Amino acid sequence: MSREIIEIVEESLKVKTKTLLECEKCKEKVERDHKEGDYVNKITDEKCPKCSNSMYIKLIYSVQPTVQRSSII
Ligand SMILES: [Zn+2]
Repeated sequence: MSREIIEIVEESLKVKTKTLLECEKCKEKVERDHKEGDYVNKITDEKCPKCSNSMYIKLIYSVQPTVQRSSII
């Protein structure tokens, strides 16, 4: 296994944090990468793609990596 491949595997195994935004009006949900300063129930600057209302943070969660080690090694 080359050094380059090991680095790619390590990168893909990192847990990613996601933020789920919800519109207060129409309950439209938007998922995006977690940003510093995000916390649950915070009203964000982001606008709802449907009604342009302010969105708040409904949920912050971690996504487990999807790469299967066995398929690489
Ligand atoms: Zn909306």
